[in-house]
Amino acid sequence: MIGMLTARELRLAGAKVRLVERGATGQEASWAGGGILSPLYPWRYPHPVTALARWSQQAYPGFSSTLANETGIDPEWTKNGLLILDSSEKAKAQAWAGSVGARLDLIEPNTISQYEPGLSAPSQEALWMPDVAQIRNPRLLNALKINLPAIGVAVEEYAEITGFVVRNDRVEGVETRRGRITAGSVVVAAGAWSGQLLAGLGYALDVVPVRGQMILFRARPGVVSRIVLSQGCYLVPRRDGRVLAGSTLEYVGFDKTTTEEALAKLSRAAIAMVPSLADYGIERHWAGLRPGSPCGVPYIGEHPRVQGLFVNAGHFRNGVVIGPASARLLADILLRRKPVLDPAPYALEDCANRDYYGTSFAP
Ligand SMILES: Cc1cc2nc3c(=O)[nH]c(=O)nc-3n(C[C@H](O)[C@H](O)[C@H](O)COP(=O)(O)OP(=O)(O)OC[C@H]3O[C@@H](n4cnc5c(N)ncnc54)[C@H](O)[C@@H]3O)c2cc1C
Repeated sequence: MIGMLTARELRLAGAKVRLVERGATGQEASWAGGGILSPLYPWRYPHPVTALARWSQQAYPGFSSTLANETGIDPEWTKNGLLILDSSEKAKAQAWAGSVGARLDLIEPNTISQYEPGLSAPSQEALWMPDVAQIRNPRLLNALKINLPAIGVAVEEYAEITGFVVRNDRVEGVETRRGRITAGSVVVAAGAWSGQLLAGLGYALDVVPVRGQMILFRARPGVVSRIVLSQGCYLVPRRDGRVLAGSTLEYVGFDKTTTEEALAKLSRAAIAMVPSLADYGIERHWAGLRPGSPCGVPYIGEHPRVQGLFVNAGHFRNGVVIGPASARLLADILLRRKPVLDPAPYALEDCANRDYYGTSFAP
């Protein structure tokens, strides 16, 4: 998604753009994600993540309808709100909401069922964020797959990049399994694989794979209506009634296998939240590799040693929600336009010094 969105931004600004992808576009983490258009427990993230999220949240409704009109595929942007059943961090949450102007209400236990009738009887207050929306990320990716060639982006699939062509500290292109491609600028948006790809250039980008598993209930419309979050597990109801339940957070390297334990854990957590989900079958179980970065702040900017080589990677748990802002910011930096956000917190030079929250950061 990050590569596709960045290609789109650059192309719309008039650049000649080629998107080079190892497999088929729009798979991997961007397909595997839940499409929640907000960080979970957003007050736990440092300001650079919030800034990208807020910009993207404003842009999403228009972006989604433009894509739907131009491609015939509706990404199903839907504002159904986020109901957070844990209120132990309410003071922090309210302070955060006040400071960024987000709507966040405290709901008494006896009224929670008005928001989500199928919940098992909650015993404590909940937090309600009515403006949180979701997007059906596989549909968004399918729309982008149609949109990119239509606006003039050359898309080259099954062409793994194996290295960079660098002369006098300036990038001149990439080497792929299908040959060399020359380019005036190169953007690395290879998700969890970005660190690996850049390793040969003597600069360690701190991006690591973090596996997330997810299951899908074949439920009916109305079984779950809101995005519901409780103790790190969440439910995302799609318009057709299907309900996603996610997710795990596992540091197991580049391993995308699914496990029985995760299946059991996710289905137990989902059914504990909405007991009637037990009446519906689990249609699918999958895993994706998030591009983990320190505090979840992506790297958006130019390589410190190689001119013309840019990076847009490390979006961790929030690439879908922060992707549009991140793509726009990268395009601004590359094209030397006035940036939509202050680029400083995302710069690669800061790699070694990223400690926005010290040890207290818990995504
Ligand atoms: C279970 C799960 C739930 C999530 N839920 C949400 C959510 O609700 N909301 C949210 O905002 N985010 C969510 N995320 C996070 C989000 O999905 C990621 O942050 C985002 O998809 C990262 O996008 P990306 O384009 O950087 O990575 P990817 O989608 O992984 O794309 C990287 C691409 O680079 C290609 N590539 C790699 N190496 C090479 C190479 N050498 N040459 C050519 N191409 C290469 C890959 O094939 C791939 O297509 C979730 C993630 C997971 C796994």
